[in-house]
Amino acid sequence: MKFQLPKGRYLVSGGAGFIGSHLSEVLIENGCEVVVVDNFITGRPQNIKSLLGRRSFSLVEQDLVSPLKISGQLAGIFHLASPASPVDYAKFPIETLHVGAIGSDNILKLAQEKDCPILVASTSEVYGDPLQHPQQETYWGNVNPIGPRGCYDESKRYMEALTMAYRRVHHVRTRIARIFNTYGPRMRPDDGRVVPNFCKQALANEPVTVFGDGMQTRSFCFVDDLVGGLVQLMGSDHAEPINLGNPQEMTINQFAEKIIRFCKSQSKIQYLPLPQDDPKTRCPDITLAKSILHWEPRVDLDLGLEKTVEYFRTH
Ligand code: NAD
Ligand code: UDP
Repeated sequence: MKFQLPKGRYLVSGGAGFIGSHLSEVLIENGCEVVVVDNFITGRPQNIKSLLGRRSFSLVEQDLVSPLKISGQLAGIFHLASPASPVDYAKFPIETLHVGAIGSDNILKLAQEKDCPILVASTSEVYGDPLQHPQQETYWGNVNPIGPRGCYDESKRYMEALTMAYRRVHHVRTRIARIFNTYGPRMRPDDGRVVPNFCKQALANEPVTVFGDGMQTRSFCFVDDLVGGLVQLMGSDHAEPINLGNPQEMTINQFAEKIIRFCKSQSKIQYLPLPQDDPKTRCPDITLAKSILHWEPRVDLDLGLEKTVEYFRTH
């Protein structure tokens, strides 16, 4: 992937995670230096194995909740650190709230100190169980603050508010990406999200676990497309949140059937209870990303799934 991004040294928080490791790779491919800050709470050293030892790459193993000391100049900061899967943030609710609040404050301060732009990774979960469909950036959402997803949703909503406050008070050059369901190689097989679960189950010819009646909808963006959107957004000066995702919506039943076919699997669907507050519909309106960033997903779901299934087959 080739980009027009100012060369220089970028900090990627959460760079040992699924999306962060792909982003770090792309930055290095484009002649940039990368400093990853990660505490490996949900990330894995193997995700950045190919980068370790390169002169343009360095790793700071640290919890973002502790004060950050990074020497030298930075051309920009991508703030991706946070547990992201519903299973992970249910396991680490306090850590999730702390990284969204204290971690985000530490890294926004760093952007202020280094006088560099910062992109924060927010989420479609700020819309909660949405009453508007598809979701536009102007929608304020329908979030249950005290439910099991509240730790994640509210940490990201707080992070957005804090980001806008740093922009208004300290004139930090901020960007907010609202990321919708993203998939691809390097998702942790045990992260509990629907893509790894279905791929693993179908490849093992085990029951594919659909939660609820499977009529809830999602749309899936391949990680290469998403990384392209993040880089484009960093290069823009758009201050308001912007949706990044794939608008090709389907029900979870349709997705389960697709994965079973794709894996040429003997698996049958097994219906299990729907987790509390699981959003019934989700689909990004990406009009803004198209017009402002000239960005839209290009990777067809079949092609993305081929690469992803191959990854789970070999890992
Ligand atoms: P991931 O869990 O694979 O990566 C997150 C990384 O952040 C991990 O490497 C983890 O160890 C690190 N981290 C977490 N807390 C930290 C802390 N306190 N200090 C330092 N490092 C910390 O998740 P992902 O899917 O790659 O998601 C990356 C970002 O994108 C997250 O902020 C997430 O909320 C956002 N996002 C992802 C999706 C998606 O579909 N993958 C959708 C919406 C938003
Ligand atoms: N899901 C499912 N079976 C699974 C895992 C997830 O049916 O084994 C459903 C889940 O209930 C949700 C959708 O798939 O409706 C997407 O779940 P995921 O955890 O990937 O992310 P979410 O979009 O909920 O944040």
